[in-house]
Amino acid sequence: MTVAATPRPGVRDVAPYLSPQLEVSARLNTNECPHPLPQGFSEELARTIGDLPLNRYPDGQMTRLREDLAAHFRHPVEGTWPANGSNEVLAELLLAYGGPGRTAAIFEPTYLLHSRLCWLTHTEVASRRLDDPFVLTESAVDEALAGSPDVVFVCSPNNPTGTAQPIDVVAHLAGSTDALVIVDEAYVEFGGESALKLVADHPNLAVVRTFSKAFAMAGARLGYVLTSPEVVGDLQRVRLPYHVSSLAQAAGIVALRHAGEAMSILDAIRGQRDRIVGALNSIDGMTVYPSDANFVLFVPPAPAAEVWQGLLDRGVLVRDLTAVVPNALRVTAGAEHEVDLFLASLREVLAS
Ligand code: PMP
Repeated sequence: MTVAATPRPGVRDVAPYLSPQLEVSARLNTNECPHPLPQGFSEELARTIGDLPLNRYPDGQMTRLREDLAAHFRHPVEGTWPANGSNEVLAELLLAYGGPGRTAAIFEPTYLLHSRLCWLTHTEVASRRLDDPFVLTESAVDEALAGSPDVVFVCSPNNPTGTAQPIDVVAHLAGSTDALVIVDEAYVEFGGESALKLVADHPNLAVVRTFSKAFAMAGARLGYVLTSPEVVGDLQRVRLPYHVSSLAQAAGIVALRHAGEAMSILDAIRGQRDRIVGALNSIDGMTVYPSDANFVLFVPPAPAAEVWQGLLDRGVLVRDLTAVVPNALRVTAGAEHEVDLFLASLREVLAS
């Protein structure tokens, strides 16, 4: 027989989730840290990795990494759980708390992967669109909870808008439901107030973080959740065996030892972000969203597709977010020379 296999219904209806990279001078589309790892950090990482017994499976309980994360955040180790990037943490949370017959509430516009992971795990999405400027309010929370969701997503600072959500509204949310409240804090080191301090009083709260952005380790694929021991107990039941490699565990342990160096470059990144906001605000007809993250969302006074292409022609790759916010583009706060090129190119494109 030479018959192709049939995938599950719906698989061929969606496109692969891709963020294509192009060889350009300024790669400002995926919110990475523009700076390489500090030298002491990468040297120690190389030595540590060289000594790993890779013929053996990794520590399946990730004991050392969990202990170091717990100590770093003064959080119980039983409520600390890493995975391959925060994306996999989110997937594991939905495997345990979503699923057929269950619903996740999502406040749009937000990170597209939240609804994508719901689709993947057969979790129904109850989507509610926040009004511009996309700040979460108690009434939006109450409306969402009226639908009795099993999971509620909050992203703070939110991707792609850059908005940090008010901590008192997150506390109101966590205290008003027994749903699992997932606060995606992938960008929290750049701004906004973390919900971590609420976890002790709210065992239904899961604060999801990553080493990909502020820790400059997107290539290592390491994220983690800080939550209650009950939630981690459930994640233990759905995780794949040995899901975090020895390499990634070692990278996380070394990164935490060098956290001070990683955090010392954040000011420079915030400086470039604020410079982008200031410069865009001075352009006639431009809408710019204030940002607490390492990127800026803007609506140019010309068709976004043309601006995107004009920037690309000049070696600058930004993210087209027109599917999420009408005519919007998102630019990562890169290194100073990348931001120079972005701003000069944008002025040229808009003038042409
Ligand atoms: N959450 C948000 C809001 C993001 O923007 C991203 C990265 N695009 C992630 C999570 C995933 O990051 P990672 O899997 O690299 O930790």
